[in-house]
Amino acid sequence: MSLIKTDAPGRRLLLMGNEAMARGALEAGVEVCAAYPGNPSSEIIGCLSQVAEEMGIYVEWSVNEKVALEVAAAASLAGLRGLAAMKQNGLNVASDFLLNLNLTGTKGGLVVVVCDDPSALSSSNEEDSRAFARLADLPLLEPSGFQEAKEMTKWAFELSEELGLPCLIRSVTRVSHARGNVELGELPTQRRRAHFDTSKPILPVPVVWAHRLLHQKLAKCRDRFHGSGFNQYRGPQRPELLILTSGAGFMYSLEAVSNLGLGDRVGIAKLGTTWPLPETFLKEQLARSQKVLFVEEVDPFMESNVKGFAAQNQTQLGPKIFLGKSSGTIPDIGELTPDHLIKVLRELFDVRYQPRPQAYIQEAMEAASHLAPPRTLGFCAGCPHRATYWAVKKALALDGREGFVLGDIGCYSLGMGPAGFFQMKTLHAMGSGAGLANGFGQLGRFGLDQPVLAVCGDSTFYHAAIPALVNAKYNGSSFLMLILDNRATAMTGFQPHPGTGRTAMGETVDPIDIEGLCRALGVQVKSVDPFDLDSTVEVLTDFLRQEKGVRVLVLKQECALVRGKRQGRLFKIRVDQDRCLGLQCGCNRLCTRVFRCPGLVWDSTSGKATVDDAICTGCGVCATICPASAILKEAV
Ligand code: SF4
Ligand code: SF4
Repeated sequence: MSLIKTDAPGRRLLLMGNEAMARGALEAGVEVCAAYPGNPSSEIIGCLSQVAEEMGIYVEWSVNEKVALEVAAAASLAGLRGLAAMKQNGLNVASDFLLNLNLTGTKGGLVVVVCDDPSALSSSNEEDSRAFARLADLPLLEPSGFQEAKEMTKWAFELSEELGLPCLIRSVTRVSHARGNVELGELPTQRRRAHFDTSKPILPVPVVWAHRLLHQKLAKCRDRFHGSGFNQYRGPQRPELLILTSGAGFMYSLEAVSNLGLGDRVGIAKLGTTWPLPETFLKEQLARSQKVLFVEEVDPFMESNVKGFAAQNQTQLGPKIFLGKSSGTIPDIGELTPDHLIKVLRELFDVRYQPRPQAYIQEAMEAASHLAPPRTLGFCAGCPHRATYWAVKKALALDGREGFVLGDIGCYSLGMGPAGFFQMKTLHAMGSGAGLANGFGQLGRFGLDQPVLAVCGDSTFYHAAIPALVNAKYNGSSFLMLILDNRATAMTGFQPHPGTGRTAMGETVDPIDIEGLCRALGVQVKSVDPFDLDSTVEVLTDFLRQEKGVRVLVLKQECALVRGKRQGRLFKIRVDQDRCLGLQCGCNRLCTRVFRCPGLVWDSTSGKATVDDAICTGCGVCATICPASAILKEAV
């Protein structure tokens, strides 16, 4: 049960940053919320969906981020408050709409929360979404803590409504996924009534006029940022060094300055309103010190903007020494930590610092290792993707023409490594495997004679692969598209998608049939159960033989985690210790070394394989791969 609906103003709850932002939206009276799942943003809509019915709001998992933003924007255009949430890659998808919506403007408050992932802990790229605020001339807020995440979200709706513009909030993993105390405010008791004003159309034209109006709104926003409590200064009146920071950088700066005892020499100015720059506040802060250190994740966004501002105001502010990413003082890639800052400040101030003893660090790491047993990056036990890649590997080997698989984002991205037997050869954006295959599938005329395969998941198919398939059919591209239909948006937490037959609000609806959609396009389509390895290899081989046109193979088998919860094991598995010849059989430990299901364990004492009953989900696939037929399956 989600705590975010707790109706107790003044009460303090331990909330995750994403929950705090969701609560802020509820306190602001949000009516419509939409998102496509993507870490580190997924919990925002996840927890709102749990309280939607009770709170009388509408929440959906949209088919992609652009549609999510459009759904939330529709609410705004009808005078309601809307929220769209996404990760950094998602804003790329939504940006086409965003960069027109900025020109038409909005009506009810519209907030776009974008959660960036410095160090790409759960992403395929490391991207600083703040660049979009500048590109689209939109206000940008950056929370640096949990209470602030809630208050900022609430305020963002007011600001958006006042300016008639969407307001962006940029969070990062350590704000979104960490937890802290949050004092609750009041929840609204009334909902607005939706009405679309038909008296004048909402168009971004005349474009130049709309662009000028946008700049006027941004200038108003700059004034509005003046005196905002989200911009703060802590430190002496005239510090030897001024740290200019935002987001999680503020927490790291506080910790580093405090640990080094530099509170009377270093000042910290935190920007919560990062774009447009809060010029009055900034001028006051820059006047404090000649030396400025920028602390921010990921790009030098604030650094470049502030440097431009300082150059513009050089006569008033005088010469400055700027340190940050451009000077190489702060790392220009990856997540920051307090240790990064401690190192920089020690060098700048030549202070002595006694870090924690190495023994303490080792002890802490050892304690943590018991909580998180070591795991290799691989598919879960019984994952259908392992079976799919095994079949693909076999079919391509039989085909012998050096065929290759183009992939994209999802659990199945692990196909690029040992878990997927190195079968996936490219990884870019959602649906890009199918898009690239369109291009490769036209290269036969230039001599490409290798079979081209694309892989995507079911959720990704709806998100971004359908246009690629339409394009392929219409333009006559030749490739084999594999849709790994495991009935789940598994990588981000099993959010529903149009194939699952349920919505974010828990309603049961008609699923949209992948094969039916492909057939409607006139594309040749077949389905197969990847656990049936022989049939899968046979169909793949057959499809590979057909060299012309686009062909679709849907590999249908439920995600092992979903199936495990719903149905339990399919088979009871054991290794016949008499039949398993171990190192002597010539298989070179095929099951544990190559197939690598975590349910199969190598017993170095006996020199034979065995099954870990606690991990094996009983899919039965390994029984097919053992050359000695030593792995036995029995129906349960
Ligand atoms: S049956 Fe074999 S492949 Fe399937 S989960 Fe168990 S050990 Fe892994
Ligand atoms: S179970 Fe089969 S594949 Fe695994 S080590 Fe024994 S003989 Fe080899």
